[in-house]
Amino acid sequence: MMPLLILLSLVALATAALLCWPGYSLKRALVRPFPAAYSRILRKNLPVYARLPADLQAQLKRLIKQFLHQKEFIGCNGFQITDEVRVTIAAKAGLLLLNRPTGVYPALKKVLVYPTVFIAPRTEMRPGGVLSHGHQSLSGESWNDDRVILAWDHALPTRENFVPGHDVVLHEFAHQLDSESGVTNGAPLLAGKAQYRRWSAVLSQEFEALQDAVDAGQETLIDPYGASDPAEFFAVATETFFENSSAMAYYHPALYAQLQAYYRVDPRDWN
Ligand SMILES: [Zn+2]
Repeated sequence: MMPLLILLSLVALATAALLCWPGYSLKRALVRPFPAAYSRILRKNLPVYARLPADLQAQLKRLIKQFLHQKEFIGCNGFQITDEVRVTIAAKAGLLLLNRPTGVYPALKKVLVYPTVFIAPRTEMRPGGVLSHGHQSLSGESWNDDRVILAWDHALPTRENFVPGHDVVLHEFAHQLDSESGVTNGAPLLAGKAQYRRWSAVLSQEFEALQDAVDAGQETLIDPYGASDPAEFFAVATETFFENSSAMAYYHPALYAQLQAYYRVDPRDWN
């Protein structure tokens, strides 16, 4: 018969292994109640939260818990990461995942947060094949490897930084979704060939129309920055879809329908 001491040690080892298993610790994080302090942050910083139907509110809270459990937040330039920072960013990132059977940004590991716009090195190919090295000030950046970088005073805009219809957090996390297909090119993971064909036809046409409007100096509903390339077009179209849904559905119905099929929500219901 196995001595009792050895048996107890084996049980302790098995328990320790189970507790260290990532799936188990995530399950534990998800069953914990959503803190009342987090709900207060949502009501204060995410006005749309109060207008979401109850099932989407519940989904969003679960997505926030998973995001906070799996992603590391790093304050840069002396910025202090607080619950308000973590919950606000996780909530906006979670909006893009509602109703979708998908992971929570599986490639993303870190969210770096600066207090305000940050300076990033930039290398650009100029005409004639000349590489130019410079710096650019940014309010957000999404990397294909494992991180998103945000300026807090744009992630939660101050009165001075608020631009209607824009949201840098939605923008950068749309880039994260775009890169899940392996390349960041304006086409995220879709269900099949037919969906890719339709997506490509509609988004190419809308992208070219935006380029033409920008070239002609016309005012556009979709941020003119989207005319720079298809990846930026998808990111700014995502911002407009969530922030200015009725106008987008009216002026760009085919594009709205594509985004509605992809995001599986209709933000007109809440806006
Ligand atoms: Zn972008």
